[in-house]
Amino acid sequence: MNSAANVTSSSVAEKFRDIAQSCRPDLRAGHFAWDAWRALTGAGLWRLPVPENLGGTGGTWTQFVEAFEAIVSTLRSVGFAMALANQATLIRALLAHGSPAQLDRHLPCLLDGAVGATAISEKGTGTEVRALETRLTHDGNDYRLDGHKYNISHAPNAQLVLVVASCSHHEKRATALVLLDPARDGVGRTAPQETLGVTDLPIGDITFSNVGIGAHELLGEPAAGLKLLMDIASMNRALFGLLCADVVRPFLSDALAYVAARATLGATLDTHQHVQRRLVEIEIGAQRSRWMALSALDQLLSQHPAALANCSIAKLGGARDLAQAALHLLAIHGSDGYRRGALATFVADALAMGSAGGTEEMHSRNIFSQMQRTAAATAAIR
Ligand SMILES: Cc1cc2nc3c(=O)[nH]c(=O)nc-3n(C[C@H](O)[C@H](O)[C@H](O)COP(=O)(O)OP(=O)(O)OC[C@H]3O[C@@H](n4cnc5c(N)ncnc54)[C@H](O)[C@@H]3O)c2cc1C
Repeated sequence: MNSAANVTSSSVAEKFRDIAQSCRPDLRAGHFAWDAWRALTGAGLWRLPVPENLGGTGGTWTQFVEAFEAIVSTLRSVGFAMALANQATLIRALLAHGSPAQLDRHLPCLLDGAVGATAISEKGTGTEVRALETRLTHDGNDYRLDGHKYNISHAPNAQLVLVVASCSHHEKRATALVLLDPARDGVGRTAPQETLGVTDLPIGDITFSNVGIGAHELLGEPAAGLKLLMDIASMNRALFGLLCADVVRPFLSDALAYVAARATLGATLDTHQHVQRRLVEIEIGAQRSRWMALSALDQLLSQHPAALANCSIAKLGGARDLAQAALHLLAIHGSDGYRRGALATFVADALAMGSAGGTEEMHSRNIFSQMQRTAAATAAIR
């Protein structure tokens, strides 16, 4: 995937940047940018990494990432970028782990822009996947699903939900992944909930009450469910890390123009070393987050054993750098930046990345357990 380093000059990047520029989405609260979503879908965004025999255009994940970066660094919306990352994650999950029948059934809709959601978090057990209360139980040859999910992106309008549930496998606790049509009997969904930031992304809750699930609707085997989930979530983490790096770009350009224009006593703001340092810190953060995320994605796609830890590092580092960049931008713009407007919205949006995609503590635990595994493996070789 290494050519993603040349993102700014690729023809794929140019094509999707032009589309994003022409969309000018409505970023007011409660307005998901459906026009942009439809335009990008129509231009073949979701088909890029999908083989031709499955309805795609036979490109690569490198090309998808080029398009993703071009869109995210143009549209100025953390919420929209999260939705792009979530949809790409679900498409890759199906490609990597779906049965032929599941690919036939779900892939065409996703490629046509039907929105998918991934529902892991529950009220009170968001961080601890092994404690999930949503439960899949045997019912003859099939299953039934009961439980709830909390704060799920696109829950109110998703047409496919990947639900993560606990189950028993040979009397041991296991993790099941269910591909669920949310229009099914027994599934309840809330309207979009009010949030501090990313108000352009509909976020809501889901309940499951005695929902019938066919064995063919399980993604992979429950015995391997946790391993599959780690692979799927890692893609999302790396893309979240990447979006943190890219979404700050237009705001950094605004800030550079602002400090070059705003002058007091004959000196523009960009002549002050303290102001320069803030801008340099933003650039350093964006660069390090971007390269970390691209490397982690590379490792994940080539099934490198260090990928799981590095995707967590990409997400954790990206969220930190984005939050810090938002505070620097606020400081640079002074009280002007604190007025309700694009920058204030961006600051609130940036804070969402502290919990969306997993908290620092959750990623630190994952990184630590990968460190322990590596240490044990190294000790065994000696
Ligand atoms: C904008 C947004 C979009 C989201 N979209 C989705 C989505 O699409 N799908 C989805 O499944 N979820 C989604 N979430 C939920 C998100 O994944 C969770 O908020 C996150 O995983 C943390 O879970 P929690 O909120 O339940 O926090 P909790 O688990 O209640 O944790 C609260 C605090 O305690 C710490 N903590 C908890 N347990 C431990 C522990 N064992 N060790 C150390 N520290 C601990 C946490 O790190 C955190 O700081 C979204 C959240 C946001 C804000």
